[in-house]
Amino acid sequence: RKVCLLAGGVGGAKMAEGLAAQDDVALSVIGNIADDESFHGLWVSPDIDTLTYSLAGRIDRGQGWGVADEGHRALETLNLLGAETWMSLGDRDFGLHIHRTMRRAKGDRPSDIARDVARAFGVTTEILLPTDDAVQTRLRTTDGRWLSFQEYFVRERCAPEIREIAFSGMDMARPTPEALAAIAGAELIVIAPSNPLVSIAPILGIPGIGEALRAAAAPKIAVSPFIAGKVVKGPADRMMAALGLRADAVGVARRYAALADRLVIDHADAALGEEIAAEGPAPHCSDILMKTLADKARLAREILDLAFAPA
Ligand code: GDP
Ligand code: CA
Repeated sequence: RKVCLLAGGVGGAKMAEGLAAQDDVALSVIGNIADDESFHGLWVSPDIDTLTYSLAGRIDRGQGWGVADEGHRALETLNLLGAETWMSLGDRDFGLHIHRTMRRAKGDRPSDIARDVARAFGVTTEILLPTDDAVQTRLRTTDGRWLSFQEYFVRERCAPEIREIAFSGMDMARPTPEALAAIAGAELIVIAPSNPLVSIAPILGIPGIGEALRAAAAPKIAVSPFIAGKVVKGPADRMMAALGLRADAVGVARRYAALADRLVIDHADAALGEEIAAEGPAPHCSDILMKTLADKARLAREILDLAFAPA
């Protein structure tokens, strides 16, 4: 079965691992590039790298991002030299950023670089970029500053209250042919339990991608990043509340109403089922906390059965 997954970083990678573990699935993952940022002259693409490292089995399982068995000596040198080092970049990780930056400087397509990196790491899942153009999340805080995603998320630890989210470069961005083909050719489209506002929105917002998804005949199933009314981690709840959206599975259903036929929610949120159905997507209750590979694979299997097994 051809499955296309829309995914951010940590939540997205968990869903990707579960789907990739299925024998009968050919998986394409469209990742988020709006967290990308330049550090020390190097182009860093955190969500794409989280997908690559996770699917390669190289991820630091404790923190869910970064490479296992990592050191920080390069960062120590940068610190000694007076550079800002709030963005934690490990020594092994730096190698990838150097390679990516060098190839971008040569004019290689970011999509080709991501594909070659994934292959070199032994990843057989297709990791696709929604666009080869630069699109970057910008967050306006209540004190009037515009922050990049990493400034907000890492440097300021999500402390500032958000007033507005924008994506620079979005209007001019063109979708990649690979992403459009994966969407059009998919037999099932899954929206990972990623941050709807800063992981999924910048994929859906690339001109042509949202339209392709709406035009796709495949069933579309989203998974809620909220469990028992709370996010597993990260700022999605506070961001949604700050923007006047409901910070729960109903809010997610409303966000994806035009897109998802179904929303998989946790048993703990079963009471929200009627309100979710009223937004559009049909709710399906499951156990959606993914700790182990077995959890991820079980949830993926259940999603496939929802899509393909006759009810
Ligand atoms: P990021 O780019 O690393 O922030 O990751 P994503 O945007 O892909 O995912 C962040 C979201 O994943 C958060 O809102 C979490 O609530 C959600 N999340 C993390 N782990 C799980 C899980 O095991 N199950 C579910 N349902 N959501 C999860
Ligand atoms: Ca991210």
